[in-house]
Amino acid sequence: MKTLSDIGLVGLAVMGENLILNMESKGFTVTAYNRSVEKVTNFIEGRAKGKNIRGAESIEELVASLEKPRKIMLMVKAGAPVDAFIEQLIPHLDQGDIIIDGGNTHFPDTNRRVEYLREKGIHFIGAGVSGGEEGALKGPSIMPGGAPEAWESVKPIFQGIAAKVDDGSPCCDWVGENGAGHFVKMVHNGIEYGDMQLLCEAYQLMKELLGMSADEIHQVFADWNKTELDSYLVEISRDIMAFKDEDGEPLVEKILDTAGQKGTGKWTGVVALDFGVPLTLIAESVFARCISALKSERIEAAKVLTGPEKSFTGDKAAFIEDLRQAVLAAKIVSYAQGYTLMREAAKEFGWNLNYGGIALMWRGGCIIRSAFLGDIKAAFDKNPELNNLLLDDYFKGVVTSAQQGWRNVAATAITSGVPVPCLTAALNYFDGYRTERLPANLLQAQRDYFGAHTYERLDKPRGEFFHTNWTGRG
Ligand code: NAP
Repeated sequence: MKTLSDIGLVGLAVMGENLILNMESKGFTVTAYNRSVEKVTNFIEGRAKGKNIRGAESIEELVASLEKPRKIMLMVKAGAPVDAFIEQLIPHLDQGDIIIDGGNTHFPDTNRRVEYLREKGIHFIGAGVSGGEEGALKGPSIMPGGAPEAWESVKPIFQGIAAKVDDGSPCCDWVGENGAGHFVKMVHNGIEYGDMQLLCEAYQLMKELLGMSADEIHQVFADWNKTELDSYLVEISRDIMAFKDEDGEPLVEKILDTAGQKGTGKWTGVVALDFGVPLTLIAESVFARCISALKSERIEAAKVLTGPEKSFTGDKAAFIEDLRQAVLAAKIVSYAQGYTLMREAAKEFGWNLNYGGIALMWRGGCIIRSAFLGDIKAAFDKNPELNNLLLDDYFKGVVTSAQQGWRNVAATAITSGVPVPCLTAALNYFDGYRTERLPANLLQAQRDYFGAHTYERLDKPRGEFFHTNWTGRG
């Protein structure tokens, strides 16, 4: 083993252990540390045995074991534990040393920590890590941002352990300053919520409206995975549909229909509201989880609130193809909205985001990995200033040809009473975005009527404001 380790990692839960083993397998020597020190011994004598991994029983021992500039990655619970470790580390570190937070941290905390540590001459990186435990071990997608001076030292390790796409490019590159890495990871998680909900809506339509069995839906997802929808989430949904419980029945049908959430989808929606960005699909996907959580209320409501009979008399195969088109078009809208949010954040915080590079980072290793991300990278390579993905020639073409099927599915779902909040939110966004004249003229008149909020006129220059006495009263 080398006398000094290349990197230290704090936090020996599942993610931390797997990242260490991944780093070691790529030729790096790692020092492992954990608050509860017995976990260090267990790890060193267990999964790390015989490998280039050393254990540290104190912060001093950890710091002393590292090559300079020291690189220490925290893989602990987000929030106060990260601040606690930063405070413990500071007295032992030198100028130019690097602390990395690889947890699911909310980006404002990373903005704050980068500034705080910069004042002390320590570089801080906030890195979003996606791909769960398996990704951590075999190749995650890593989205690092923070102090740019630190990137060159960390780059070989991160790009070494990250997932690789077909041409060998790593799913990790520098995202941008301050909390940009954690911001992009947050948007990734929001998009994940949306992609998952879209497949759930497709499943619901196939099951409830077309009366298809889990095996039949399995086949549809298997077919979709050979098209532009080729992705990890379609692949696992295909496999879930085929999975049988001990009695031979599909396990998925026995699972309680109440979804959990850890909050990253909510963060994405809240930030979008703060910035005034219409991120409708992701917001609906968060609310869809909220309505799913009202199980006991829904049981009662189902007894008293009636809707149309669910029956389908059309061409099933044609409807399934329409459904595929609808999912594809809605997914494009979701990414268009997510990218718009990143653009707004870049403007707000002065980040210089590499949009094509972000698509490449999501291309492998993470939950939203899909073939489709290659097309997003191509769109930003063609035009780095692209305002909205829907305006790229390729995506414009796909959405245009998917449009009729998408509308058929939305209309059929609505007339049949099957809830499809994300498929329809995306269509409403598409129609809103492509409508030159929206009814906000009436809205402005209403605001001026009751609150003298003033309005601008089409026949006068922008920036000139008018007020009308709508009632004629003084
Ligand atoms: P976790 O359960 O989130 O955290 C466990 C680790 O945090 C342990 O090392 C624990 O130390 C430490 N810890 C907890 N409270 C602490 C405190 N008050 N002070 C100091 N240390 C404390 O572990 P994880 O699932 O491996 O995740 C690590 C990070 O990666 C989290 O931010 C998580 O959100 C993120 N992440 C997880 C996944 C995933 O699939 N699990 C995927 C991507 C990102 P002790 O052993 O002493 O309790």
